[in-house]
Amino acid sequence: MRRALVTGGSRGIGAATVRCLERDGFEVVKPTRDELDLLNVESIDRFCDSIRDIPFQVLINNAGINDVHAIEEITDDEIARMIAVNLVAPIKLLRCVTGGMKAQRYGRIVNIGSIWGQAGKPGRTVYAATKHGIHGITQTLAVELAPYNILINTVCPGFTLTDLTRKNNPPEVIRELEQQIPLGRMAQPEEQAEAIAYLVGEKNTYITGQMIAVDGGYLSK
Ligand code: NAP
Repeated sequence: MRRALVTGGSRGIGAATVRCLERDGFEVVKPTRDELDLLNVESIDRFCDSIRDIPFQVLINNAGINDVHAIEEITDDEIARMIAVNLVAPIKLLRCVTGGMKAQRYGRIVNIGSIWGQAGKPGRTVYAATKHGIHGITQTLAVELAPYNILINTVCPGFTLTDLTRKNNPPEVIRELEQQIPLGRMAQPEEQAEAIAYLVGEKNTYITGQMIAVDGGYLSK
């Protein structure tokens, strides 16, 4: 059976991705925060040790955090937390699973970016830095791992109705934002998950190193 590792599978885009992959026949490993705390280097190392001998065909680096503040208001703690969860943890998990993928000469990976890794929005300085960074990882590994038939892409969600979006935007702001989206509404998590599932499915044999926005046309305006 094909096996996938999904971070942040408890809620939002991650939970929808778990459902899609299970429907598509994957055994999905979706560690809880107790099993894998991406803010805690020792927790990541322990988790990596525990899966070192388990072959994975798919990795989805989905978990992410986004604290929104003007540049003068960003705290050192927020900078460290966003870089730890959004950048350092994905790199460590990639280091952990790619050896097994190379041995199988097969791997499919999606890193979750953001439209704010493609366009600017006030208050997202550190978040944008991490999401730009995640695509640098994608492009580098697309080249480094291509000889092993490992394909890796960045999916950049646009506004998606999850806890993260509700935390950063009150209901009236969500309604205003929806008017700025060409499709006239925010995405459901399942709409992100279907794109991710395609990229890590067996039908994807040639797309690698790409940044794909699932944004209802937002960046095309
Ligand atoms: P969400 O609803 O806030 O869920 C976040 C997930 O990440 C949860 O499963 C959470 O686990 C997990 N997580 C957070 N910190 C963690 C930590 N320290 N250790 C382990 N797990 C941790 O987020 P979402 O909206 O689905 O976003 C998923 C991804 O899409 C993120 O990378 C985000 O940046 C990106 N994105 C989202 C949007 C959007 O509009 N929603 C737009 C662009 C990009 P717990 O349940 O344990 O807290």
